[in-house]
Amino acid sequence: MLTIAISKGRIYDDTVPLLRAAGIEPTLDPDKSRKLILPTQREDVRLLVIRATDVPTYVEYGAADLGIAGKDVLVEYGAEGLYEPLDLGIARCRMMTAARVGYHPQGKRLRVATKYVHTTQRYFAKRGEQVEIIKLYGSMELAPLVGLADLIVDLVDTGNTLKANGLEPRDLIMDISSRLVVNKAAMKTKHRHVRGLVEELTRIVSNQRSVAA
Ligand code: AMP
Repeated sequence: MLTIAISKGRIYDDTVPLLRAAGIEPTLDPDKSRKLILPTQREDVRLLVIRATDVPTYVEYGAADLGIAGKDVLVEYGAEGLYEPLDLGIARCRMMTAARVGYHPQGKRLRVATKYVHTTQRYFAKRGEQVEIIKLYGSMELAPLVGLADLIVDLVDTGNTLKANGLEPRDLIMDISSRLVVNKAAMKTKHRHVRGLVEELTRIVSNQRSVAA
């Protein structure tokens, strides 16, 4: 049995066509079912539907053999305990700093609100900037509007969410896309099975890229 951990929403929606192309089709819709373990048409493959930030944990501890997670989640988690063999090229966006339009505070230690505490810490440390980081769990865009923070660090796709809240993107921290991750032990103990799926997905993704190019 191969177990693949995946989160609902954007990543799930973009991953299903890739899995389908590899002959893996969930037999339940996670939006309609309350089940957390989704069987697929392949008896030897099942999906775990969990929170995006939990995917690296399930894979690192071997509760899932493989997982699909955003680079943002992997960098924040510190995914040295996982193999990351494939960039799926889906759920693309950018991790950026953002602030109120035209707001340029000077001569003060900046407060930065984010759910990416470690990534933000490393980013500002590398630039030699001392900042105070405020951990939030969502709706980061609100923080600069009510004086909680000078900057936020968040994911930006179209930029519409920032714009709708009177914010503007500032600096790019990193480009983001979803990655396939693999448990290190499973890569050895289930080598043929895991390797087969990684190779199949690699072929599907590179075919899609050449069609798109
Ligand atoms: P947008 O308004 O298109 O710039 O999208 C920004 C909002 O969608 C923010 O709340 C982001 O956290 C979220 N978002 C954008 N792209 C992604 C992604 N690839 N994965 C997860 N969340 C995203």
